[in-house]
Amino acid sequence: MDITRASFYVAAMLVCAVCLLHSILMRRIDKNSNKIFVAMLVVVIVSALTDGTAYMIRPLVSHELASSVYAACNYIYFVSHPLLPGLFFFYMMEVSGWMRMESRLRNILLFTPLLFCELIAITNPLTLWMYSYNDAGEFVRSWGVYTLYVMSAFYLASGIVILLRYWSSITARRRRSLALYVGIVIAGTVIQLLIPEVKSEVFGEALSLMGLMLTVENEDDRIDVETGVYDRRMFNIDIANMIGTGRHFNIVCVHVANTDVVIRISGLGAHTDLMGSIADWLKTIAPWYRIYRATPDTFAIVSLSSTSHEAQAITKAVHERFAQPWTCLDNEFMLKATVMRAAVPENLATAEDVMFMADSPAPKTGEGDVLAGPDLDYLKRRLAVEKAVARGLEEGNFEMYYQPLCRADGSVCGAEALMRLTDPEIGNVPPYEFIEVAERTGTIDEIGIFALDEACHFLQSGEPDRIGVEKIHVNLSMVQCMQPDIVAQVRGVVEEHGVNPGRINLEITESVAADNQEVLEAMMAALIADGFSFSMDDYGTGFSNMQSMLNLEFGVVKIDKSIVWGAEKDETGRAILENTMRMMRQTRHETVAEGVETAEQIELLRRLGIDYLQGYYFSRPLPREDFVVWASTRK
Ligand code: C2E
Ligand code: CA
Ligand code: CA
Repeated sequence: MDITRASFYVAAMLVCAVCLLHSILMRRIDKNSNKIFVAMLVVVIVSALTDGTAYMIRPLVSHELASSVYAACNYIYFVSHPLLPGLFFFYMMEVSGWMRMESRLRNILLFTPLLFCELIAITNPLTLWMYSYNDAGEFVRSWGVYTLYVMSAFYLASGIVILLRYWSSITARRRRSLALYVGIVIAGTVIQLLIPEVKSEVFGEALSLMGLMLTVENEDDRIDVETGVYDRRMFNIDIANMIGTGRHFNIVCVHVANTDVVIRISGLGAHTDLMGSIADWLKTIAPWYRIYRATPDTFAIVSLSSTSHEAQAITKAVHERFAQPWTCLDNEFMLKATVMRAAVPENLATAEDVMFMADSPAPKTGEGDVLAGPDLDYLKRRLAVEKAVARGLEEGNFEMYYQPLCRADGSVCGAEALMRLTDPEIGNVPPYEFIEVAERTGTIDEIGIFALDEACHFLQSGEPDRIGVEKIHVNLSMVQCMQPDIVAQVRGVVEEHGVNPGRINLEITESVAADNQEVLEAMMAALIADGFSFSMDDYGTGFSNMQSMLNLEFGVVKIDKSIVWGAEKDETGRAILENTMRMMRQTRHETVAEGVETAEQIELLRRLGIDYLQGYYFSRPLPREDFVVWASTRK
């Protein structure tokens, strides 16, 4: 017996054995696709062993023992080898997410060609449809062998179609290498067909399985290194895939809300360590390949069960766990988790919505911070607002309203420009909603400049002079203040309209002013040199560092409505307003009282020496024309 005749088979077995070992060592055996892959390796090993043995033993078939070994090997080979194309197909279905349990009928139909071939192979000793032996004991093929080729071609082609169509996570590089590996299988088969002495078929299969291991099975570039779960990119891709293939599933997002404390106490390394521990714990309640690190502080867990029971159980387990401390770098931390649970597509219809849930720090809720089902409407609303803001800029749905600023005696001396968004689809969107969205999405730059532009336009028209409006107040958002070229932007707009900067007052919120003294100092100095003036907005709403705020060159302080209203409520409120007014006088700031609604409030504020008044008592913010009419009738 010449062993070298079997070298292709030995090589095939070695390659598959190495792949098998590697898969086990790398623990790539949990997912269904991993299991199918391992099954393919086993099939190739068995095929190589039996086909190789049969091939070597063939010259000796005249011996009785050899002839029964020969027959046994052929039999096992013909039963096992046809499994390979079928397995390959189901492997592709699995990785592309096309395998859906709901459509049982389709799955059974797809199994039929494989079952058919297996039936022919298994019953061959009775039917001889696949092969038989002639009188000399030689192997003779029957028609059944050709059904094998047809079946293989069917599964191979369908597998490739599914792959290209549904597997969006595949990169071009992987696509190319996969094409190459499929090519190797085909080449191996064709070579063996043409030159029967070259046993390249099974070897080609082994090689291409190794290729699959290096590309599809290897997920190093999809896994978050710190936590060993899938990363954000995979989250996005998988969600889109599952929604695209019409799958129903539940998703649980666990947002760790207070990791900043951990970082402050133990450093950034602790954060990594902690997220690793949380991921490890999550892996005990859900398979690792259903967990994603959606943001640095958020894990998302996908439950493929069609009911929400599993997702509810996960939610409950997370809550119980987070009631206990987490240990990290020898420190113990109580962490706060916000858990959001949604059914897809019932609660969240698109991948965009799901990503949005993972990204959005949920608004506080009373009941254990679980958001589920209808609570998630806030996401839809935010998404709708996001779209409305984007659309608003293009379609011109933003409009400036003006609210009068009056002197203590009630005469008009200025106006605050306040923005309104009226969307054709969702109607009026209040500023607190769209400003936040615009800040997050970066459109605030354009919106802010739009406000200044409109105010300048108004001033340029000459109408403000006619109605006694000396200054127009324009709000600057936090994001705008942080912009390196804000000075140039503001100058540009004002110069374009030929407006005197002395007629523009820029409002910056107290909290922004307190936290960013250094940044603001230079910006304010440059604009003040041009003639602009500044107001500190919403004074009294934060617990800000008074010193750093009052060191900045704000000429005017706008006392927030909460302080104005609080003064009527009780002694404490009264004392706060009185002391605020006194302090502003002593530090030489002019004062505006916001939210003035009643004559009693005005009475009190006048007594305390207020400089300016703003509020519904005089007027709500009005569209420009209405504001002009209102102001002219008061003159
Ligand atoms: P803000 O700058 O504090 O504006 C004053 C808010 O108080 C306005 O709300 C105004 O309508 C409201 N207000 C005035 N008087 C009264 C009153 O007597 N009673 C009550 N209850 N409310 C009164 P609005 O217009 O809804 O604006 C909300 C916030 O949105 C503004 O607060 C400001 O921070 C922001 N905002 C509005 N327009 C712009 C803008 O063009 N740019 C930027 N960055 N922010 C803007
Ligand atoms: Ca303001
Ligand atoms: Ca204000």
